[in-house]
Amino acid sequence: MMIDTHSHIAANIEGLEFVVLSGTSIEDSRNNIKLSKNDKRLKAAVGIHPQEKTSNFKHQILKLEELLIENKNIVAVGECGLDFSNLPKSLFDKRDFKDMEILFRAQICLALKYKKPLIIHSRKAMDETLEILKSYKNLTGVIHCYTGGIKRIKNVPESFYFGIDGKVTYEDGLVEVVKNIPKDRLVLETDSPELTPIPHRFEKNCPEYVKFIYQKVAEIWGRSPEGAEKIIDENARRLFLQ
Ligand SMILES: [Zn+2]
Repeated sequence: MMIDTHSHIAANIEGLEFVVLSGTSIEDSRNNIKLSKNDKRLKAAVGIHPQEKTSNFKHQILKLEELLIENKNIVAVGECGLDFSNLPKSLFDKRDFKDMEILFRAQICLALKYKKPLIIHSRKAMDETLEILKSYKNLTGVIHCYTGGIKRIKNVPESFYFGIDGKVTYEDGLVEVVKNIPKDRLVLETDSPELTPIPHRFEKNCPEYVKFIYQKVAEIWGRSPEGAEKIIDENARRLFLQ
């Protein structure tokens, strides 16, 4: 059964083994925990998205740690990371970048302390993100919606996985990237409700549509759907259900 390793909605999960609900704020993370208690197929991640950083982000970290202490069934920390997409170069505020990095590093420390994989969000910041990851040992996780191209694949720590989304059904560049990612380090994700794959592009995305991404990867690998699914599912279980 297929697995959606990154979603922001908990509906339309028919036929899936499990769905990882990515956390973007304290409130969102709490909601993920609540949902995961009502349905075993929903797995909660808790994290602060870089764009959800508040001015009092140290308080956000304290709250995040409370959630990790109180809820043993949390499967990952994240999504967390760096996002430079909303920072025009001319207005680039150094302090804001520094705070984003502190928030990211604090979540890395929580992942290590509570032995959870990390879900990493990195937008227009892949080199900076990989540079930070290099300095930690025993860290595992996924680069969600990997956008580093072929050339950065080798820079991603070997203990990390590559999350590939619905864009692979319509972006040739991403097809080439998938060909170059080691098969035992690939996981698939919808990022619902965004990034809807073909044939539902421009509609709202949902976890069930991960099947179209599975199909596409089987095609790229030149394998049977069953053969490809087995490898991809094992990767997702190894990462999130260890
Ligand atoms: Zn996300």
